[in-house]
Amino acid sequence: MRPQLAISLLTLGAVLAAPGCATTSPEPSRLAGCETGAVRLTQDFSTAPGYACQREGEAAFELSVLPEDPEINPSPWYAFDLHADEATDAEVALDYADYRHRYQPRIELEDGHWAALPADVVTVSEDGHQAMLALDIPAGVTRIGAQEVIPIEARADWRAAFADRNGMSRAVIGDSREGRPIEALTRQASTSNAPLIIILGGQHPPEVTGVLGLRAFLDTMFGPHADATVLDAYQWLIIPDLNPDGVEHGHWRHNTGGLDLNRDWGPFTQPETAAAFAAIEQQIMNGHAPFLLLDFHSTRRDVLYTPPDGAALTPFAFSEDWISLIESEWTGDDPAFDRGPSHNVGMPTSKTWFADTYAAPGVTVEYGDNTDRDRIIALSQTAARALTRYLDSQTANSRP
Ligand SMILES: [Zn+2]
Repeated sequence: MRPQLAISLLTLGAVLAAPGCATTSPEPSRLAGCETGAVRLTQDFSTAPGYACQREGEAAFELSVLPEDPEINPSPWYAFDLHADEATDAEVALDYADYRHRYQPRIELEDGHWAALPADVVTVSEDGHQAMLALDIPAGVTRIGAQEVIPIEARADWRAAFADRNGMSRAVIGDSREGRPIEALTRQASTSNAPLIIILGGQHPPEVTGVLGLRAFLDTMFGPHADATVLDAYQWLIIPDLNPDGVEHGHWRHNTGGLDLNRDWGPFTQPETAAAFAAIEQQIMNGHAPFLLLDFHSTRRDVLYTPPDGAALTPFAFSEDWISLIESEWTGDDPAFDRGPSHNVGMPTSKTWFADTYAAPGVTVEYGDNTDRDRIIALSQTAARALTRYLDSQTANSRP
């Protein structure tokens, strides 16, 4: 897959133009809407938010990039298609109102891979409240997103294929508020009382690097080179896509109940978090004691949010041990993950709720928005190999 991307990037230069050469015609009030004409902007696919669009010229548009609810974590997501009857210059202005530009736009290449738009086609206003994209688009459809666009259908396909190739069972553990299935993948332990490891993802819709990281982590942990003896010693419950409604609608943060799902662990007022909790409790009823929870996200850097040093959790000092194994395995030039030890008792995040409820470690795994995608893969593979080594040492200790 990698060499293909390199070849596609060679052709990218032809698709993009320097700023300042796009079409401008005034009097937008006399112009058609965004979705008609020879050059059109549409937002009618899974993950596209449906922002108010103003036509500013024959091939110039302005999108009002606003969150689903007020006072929200600043993750100004956008995703849209540009349609052109013939190759043309086009401009898209992103107006963030009181929010600020965060995501370097990405473009879908002909082979389905994605690449960051070169910095010189994106002009961000000094105060950060506006960004202008100046593009040279081919005839046909050009898809642009704040990150790689991964529609919910593609996420379902990935889960099914992953479960099939790794011998996992797949079950619907509940429905989202809008009735979309929440799926869990389970890998059965060889013993009925094996410790339980929970892996979560997809709570926050724009956090695509978290999705990429989670997939690479799971592929290494359970793929063809996995250590079956280690895997068999644990019960695995994996819920990769906890907020399908938020993803579908292109939300910045919330589900359709107006809540940040990662502030609902404990209250469990939302069907998505309640489904995850019920699935965990079911595993506990079946005899599997909670051992570890990993929750995959994105932020502005690669960081592991861990319990504080010396926290009274079992296994004791998991984060310190795992991180030192990651560092010993890591071959990259820069350091691997930063570490952010913190624990606000009673804070309803998955990680803190897990530690407070089961006295077992929960770790939030965060990848940077702009982290090089090859580095995300390498970090995840390293983290998975390090976890395998850690779990192997645990099972070796408990062997008679
Ligand atoms: Zn997050």
